Amino acid sequence: MSTKQSESVSAESIDSQSAASIHLENLGKTFDTKEGTEEVFSGIDLDIEPGTFVCLLGKSGSGKSTMLNIVSNVLEPTEGRVVFRNRDGSEDVNLGHVFQSPRLLPWNTCVQNIEYVHENNPDYEDSHAKRYLDLVGLKNHYNKYPTQLSGGQQQRVGIARALSIDPGVLLMDEPFSNLDEITAEGLREELVRVWQKLDKTVFFVTHDMTEAIQLSDRILMLGKGRIYGDLENPLDRPRELDSNEFLEFRQ
Ligand code: ADP
Ligand code: MG
Repeated sequence: MSTKQSESVSAESIDSQSAASIHLENLGKTFDTKEGTEEVFSGIDLDIEPGTFVCLLGKSGSGKSTMLNIVSNVLEPTEGRVVFRNRDGSEDVNLGHVFQSPRLLPWNTCVQNIEYVHENNPDYEDSHAKRYLDLVGLKNHYNKYPTQLSGGQQQRVGIARALSIDPGVLLMDEPFSNLDEITAEGLREELVRVWQKLDKTVFFVTHDMTEAIQLSDRILMLGKGRIYGDLENPLDRPRELDSNEFLEFRQ
């Protein structure tokens, strides 16, 4: 885990809901298509502690997005269920989403792109959106349109928008894979810094092993329909990075 801290942006003014735990119980998904039936995974049981930064690592086609979409309630599982729990035991948890492409509305400014997800709140104030833009280093870009921003800056708006709903769980599906490596590196550092400041559980999907090792407290390896590796604090366990699970991933 990167411990780099930057004092340039403050999160003091942000009220953060405490992180939630995630529980997958006997989770399975099968798709029925014209080609036949495809079982993506089955029998997955997992408990993720509140405040964990977990990476789901797997090769393309291993079922990462399918699992994330089930966790985020976009897809129904074929079997099993997903339960979230706040630290106080309640199960009503906000989910924040960051997609591979930030999906910003092109005719809206950065501030308006955040306001948009709060349109049901008549008391919503600009200052709230601006605090989240500040948090991700976009202080001087409030009124720019997406086309006036770099790819990395657009993704920062996507992260600010997801955080602005005060999620107990932040779901991210390969959010940096469309960015050049230097920009992606900067965003990873920024994300870890934000995660250290706000109490959030992050469920981060990636096919990039280096990214998973750098970011997470816990790596879950998905392949052949199961979780075949589960490693905590990868940076503190260099020997285990040569373990069978990682060798299997490299093949
Ligand atoms: P990953 O995100 O790890 O690349 P996906 O979850 O997108 O993998 O896909 C896992 C498998 O499920 C793939 O074989 C894919 O073709 C299949 N799949 C994903 N979504 C659907 C769908 N809506 N209908 C049928 N098959 C699907
Ligand atoms: Mg995917």
